[in-house]
Order: sequence, then C-alpha cells, then structure tokens
Amino acid sequence: MTYTQPDLPYATDALAPVISKETVEYHYGKHEKAYIDNLNRLIKGSQYEDMDLEDVIRNAKGPLFNNASQAWNHIFYFFTFAPNTGGEPGGELRKAIDRDFGSFEEFKKAFEDAGVGIFGSGWVWLSRDEDGKLFITQESNAGNPLTSGLTPLLVFDVWEHAYYLDYQNRRAEALHRLWEIVDWDVVESRY
Ligand code: MN
Repeated sequence: MTYTQPDLPYATDALAPVISKETVEYHYGKHEKAYIDNLNRLIKGSQYEDMDLEDVIRNAKGPLFNNASQAWNHIFYFFTFAPNTGGEPGGELRKAIDRDFGSFEEFKKAFEDAGVGIFGSGWVWLSRDEDGKLFITQESNAGNPLTSGLTPLLVFDVWEHAYYLDYQNRRAEALHRLWEIVDWDVVESRY
C-alpha cells in the first residue's frame, strides 16, 4: 500500500494566530510529508506492506515504526483542529473527563503539565482503555499509546518544530493556546 498525505480540511492560515500559516506549511507540508515519504520507502517489500497503518505501529520497530507513527500522529493532530472552535467537550467524553480528572479545567491543567514535562521531543496524549477510563500519557519521540493497547483521543505535539516559529522556547504558552482550536466534536467522536 502506498500512503498519501490527506489535504487538511481548512486553509493553511485558518488556525492563526494560534498556529501560523508558516508553521502549518512547514509542519504539515514538509515535516509530515517527509514522514509519509519515508514510510512508503521503508514499508515497500517488507512484511508490513499490506497491514493497516495502526497495526504497523503496533508491530514494527526502529525506523519503520518511527516514520509510520509520526505519519499517523501528525494526521491525528492536525485533524483535531479547526478554526472558530475551542469551547468545551460534551456528551459521554465530558462525563468521563469530569469523572477521571475532577473537572474540565483540572484535565486541561494536567494535560498541559504533562506536555511541558516531556524532556526533549514527544507527544502528550489523552486516551481511553477498553472500559472507557481516560489516561494522560507522555510519549518520547514518535511514541503512540496504540502500542500500550489504548485508544488515542487527543494529542498535542511537543516537538520544537511544532511551535518554535510562533512561540520560540515557550512550550507552555504554545500548548495552552491550542485549546482555542480543538474541535471537540472530533475528539468526542473518537471516544
Ligand atoms: Mn510534529
């Protein structure tokens, strides 16, 4: 299977000023494209060639895992956002957030703190287990909670390439601003 990069469902300047046009063009247009190109190069002729991408992530190691997971993670990340969204989650997801973290405000604080606390490059995730219990996890580099048997719901990218053009070294501010563009309908649909 040859993977293609899906077009974003919004214009490259639609997330500004939270994420600038320039960052979307570099981060999705160049970084993410490189991961997909590398994935296609590495998977060709391998035992993983006809597997679903999520199963490649669950099973592969080394460079193939890194590029498969980074390809998947960035699509998951960018397709969580939309202009003129933000607000708060509702439905069963909201009930689970209130149950497992105390409140939406406490959840956001814990999620931001977990992202700020990752040393070096990585991702902070909200996931659910088979029973619907929610977990915030820190992953280094290309890490993905699929490898722990969890179902990902939301992710913030804490690699410097995600925020350096817009926020320089201010990772905490970059993560805090992302709540303004989270499309909670998308996140709820994953729960
Ligand atoms: Mn990234």
